[in-house]
Amino acid sequence: MLFKELGLSDPILRSLEDLKHSEPSEIQKQAIPIVLSGKNIMAAAQTGTGKTGSFVLPMIELLQNQAKPYRKHVHALVLTPTRELAAQVRESVYTYGKFTSITSAAIFGGAKIFPQKSKLKKGLDILVATPGRLLDLHNQKSVKLNQVQILVLDEADHMLDMGFIHDIKKIIALTPPDRQNLLFSATFSPEIKKLAQSLGTDLEEIAVDSPNSTVSAIKQIVYKVDKNQKSNLLSHLIHSEQWPQALIFSRTKHGSEKIAKKLNAADIHTATIHGDKTQGARTRALREFKEKDVRVLVATDVAARGIDISNLPYVVNFDMPTYPNDYIHRIGRTGRAGKAGTAISFLSIDEQKFLRGIEELIDSKIPQKIEEGFNPTDKAENSSKPKNFRNKKSGFQKRQAAKKGKAAFKKATGSKNKSGQNKKKGSKAKTRWKKGKGT
Ligand code: AMP
Repeated sequence: MLFKELGLSDPILRSLEDLKHSEPSEIQKQAIPIVLSGKNIMAAAQTGTGKTGSFVLPMIELLQNQAKPYRKHVHALVLTPTRELAAQVRESVYTYGKFTSITSAAIFGGAKIFPQKSKLKKGLDILVATPGRLLDLHNQKSVKLNQVQILVLDEADHMLDMGFIHDIKKIIALTPPDRQNLLFSATFSPEIKKLAQSLGTDLEEIAVDSPNSTVSAIKQIVYKVDKNQKSNLLSHLIHSEQWPQALIFSRTKHGSEKIAKKLNAADIHTATIHGDKTQGARTRALREFKEKDVRVLVATDVAARGIDISNLPYVVNFDMPTYPNDYIHRIGRTGRAGKAGTAISFLSIDEQKFLRGIEELIDSKIPQKIEEGFNPTDKAENSSKPKNFRNKKSGFQKRQAAKKGKAAFKKATGSKNKSGQNKKKGSKAKTRWKKGKGT
């Protein structure tokens, strides 16, 4: 099938020709005609399938012959979870629309607000934004959303994971009810379905691949290894297998810096990208990696989900992802646009439960391997305790036992445990704070 048959006009076909996109991808084949007909969609599309084009191309088509928006108004709004994805989607609008008069911009936090305000002044055909900064600019009366005709929620599952649901609801309420809605998500949880229903009941559902499966072109391997050997195994694999480039996922910001330090010390040029870095440093690291000036990029989930790096051959889960959905997102950075890719996960003994969750989600077993010279020797927590400690209670256990005794006594005597209640509240608050902390 050709792009022309999907109803796209010459200026767009020319840019596709320049990009050497000769045929529409599966999601593009399915989504473009529906979007062009003005209907709402809810699409299950994995990363790397060409999903950006599936909404950007028809949006440009629909908007290119319309009157330009009034001052501060936007005609199409794309919400994305991360700054990197916002910049990337805007880049696609720019390249796909370079032979049209479509105006666009990306706005996101961590960058100066004044230049963003001036971009919004004249009005824009397409605005790509992260939710928080968009609301800031709306509160400052720098942008008006009451003439939005098309609303796109890109990587909706990721936006919900990041806690953007209230911001998204506020933004939706600022747009007209008769807008066209396009929702894209790699995975479909009940929360996503609820959000989709709040957009309208007439959403056409499209699924390119099973939403909870991994891209089939990706070769997946689990390396069993001791925790303290992971860095050595990583530099060993990079050197011995001569990986041209790799994206490494670390669970924490601190962890990613530690990995980078070790790799740089092993003469492997490495940069990091995470929430503690300034936006300038994040953009620079990503650019250098895309331009292949940097061999390895170490990232946390927050900074790296959704980013598109073409021809990325290796993705490594240095730590097993805690949430199974993150596994799909992480490994989807390789094997993009039908290209081959390898996703490697390092599994230490304490991470077995995370692997079980992943294998349940993708409904298949990932082959496991032990690299010569890296035989794991760590034992599971319980069995690793020295024998003579087994029957000894730790300080913590003793305190717990004492508490239990006290509680039983109070229950028996009917006395109320006010301080106990407060403690409970405090511990909940702590958990929330921990959850809210970005990585
Ligand atoms: P996406 O899933 O939107 O992030 O796209 C993944 C990659 O596929 C990007 O680098 C796109 O430039 C590329 N791509 C998108 N559509 C096509 C197409 N029809 N033919 C070839 N490559 C494409």
